[in-house]
Amino acid sequence: MTESFVIIGDGVAGSSAAETLREEEPDADITVLTDEGEALYNRILIKEFAKGKLPEAPISIHDEGWYEERDIDLRLDTLVVDLRTDAHEVETHEGEVFEYDKLLLAIGGTPQQLPVGNSDADGVHHFWTFQDARGIKEAVEGAENGVIVGAGLLGIDFAAICGAQGVEANYLMRGECWWRYALSKDGAEIMHEAMRERGVEPVFDSGVDRFETDDDGHIEAAVDPNGERYPADFAGVAIGLNFNTELVEDTPIEIDDGIVVDEYMRTNLEDVYAAGDITQFHDVILGERAQNGAWGSAKEQGTVAARNMLEYGSEGFRWVSSYSITHFDFPFLSFGHPTLGDDEIERKFGEDEWRRLALKDGKIVGGVLIGNLAPQSAYKQLMREQVDVGAQKETLMKEGFSVEDLEQEAAAGE
Ligand SMILES: Cc1cc2nc3c(=O)[nH]c(=O)nc-3n(C[C@H](O)[C@H](O)[C@H](O)COP(=O)(O)OP(=O)(O)OC[C@H]3O[C@@H](n4cnc5c(N)ncnc54)[C@H](O)[C@@H]3O)c2cc1C
Repeated sequence: MTESFVIIGDGVAGSSAAETLREEEPDADITVLTDEGEALYNRILIKEFAKGKLPEAPISIHDEGWYEERDIDLRLDTLVVDLRTDAHEVETHEGEVFEYDKLLLAIGGTPQQLPVGNSDADGVHHFWTFQDARGIKEAVEGAENGVIVGAGLLGIDFAAICGAQGVEANYLMRGECWWRYALSKDGAEIMHEAMRERGVEPVFDSGVDRFETDDDGHIEAAVDPNGERYPADFAGVAIGLNFNTELVEDTPIEIDDGIVVDEYMRTNLEDVYAAGDITQFHDVILGERAQNGAWGSAKEQGTVAARNMLEYGSEGFRWVSSYSITHFDFPFLSFGHPTLGDDEIERKFGEDEWRRLALKDGKIVGGVLIGNLAPQSAYKQLMREQVDVGAQKETLMKEGFSVEDLEQEAAAGE
């Protein structure tokens, strides 16, 4: 009998799952449901579009013909509003019902709004979809000054967009540096300087208490908790995601700020899987539950989920995630879980070069490299292989570090 697979979400996780299912099961019925109005596009590149550096066309990854050629039933503009796990069916906003033998939830997250006055005013932007990017591009092209809120990996995209589009902006941050959970002031200062060079001023120990609007309801300024007023006709807010768990809230599927899955991407229900940003997965390297928010990881989870939907236990998810920032003259890479761990080491090498590793029980669990990415493969290898490096911290911070340095040191010590 032909098996039927329903995938909710056509981001990179859902789409790569559909592709893998088709490659490995030529006869399966595969349906992909997405509430977006376009098929898979490169979410990483939409910031380059908003910066005005890239036209629309190269951002698309698959057109609708790609799905047709593979006999995958893609439904755009289709929001799934109900999931009935006992009956093995999902229902869309138009009342259409799809039955499944196996279901994949690749439903990602939605940007959080600031819990302050006027946070939904005209001119306050959040960033997740291509549609958002179109709105942001148009807004920054007409803006003179802006504020950015959210001192993390998505907030810095807003800073780069304002810089590229000539909008003078204040970047309002809580605490005393950008991405304070992963960087020290030494490392973050390199990022701050790069922002300043682009006309974006980092403001520390700040944030937003409320937005002020004009008579038409358009944002005019942000007022921070210290009472400082920052004029702005554009605001970019990137304070994190709400994971789209609403759909599963009335089902027996386990959730915990995301959908809980094992290393095979299976939920607590035998025929329901999840992949991508939405998952709280069992990370076999870290030895605990974790969540990734990165393109490569979501793609791999989609592929792994598909293989296990076909044969449970056939492939585990074992992955060191990476996320790079390419807005500045120097490279930046974070990998693994740089905000976790019980110990850390860091070193500054010069004006634009800095490194930090997060360790747990003497093993690398993540890190951030600024200015020189050469040691990334060595660090990732040590992380993947769970090598205990707790006694060799100084060696890890050597300028041209390679794995052989550890071996030589160990041999010298014998
Ligand atoms: C501006 C921006 C820049 C980024 N830059 C980087 C980067 O440089 N490097 C990096 O590694 N990562 C980056 N990321 C993160 C990366 O894009 C995500 O981690 C990845 O796209 C997640 O893929 P996903 O398939 O899990 O989720 P998503 O891409 O969010 O896809 C989920 C899809 O499910 C749909 N959906 C949800 N609920 C329903 C429903 N009920 N019915 C129908 N459809 C539904 C959503 O609309 C969405 O289309 C960036 C993200 C953004 C927004």
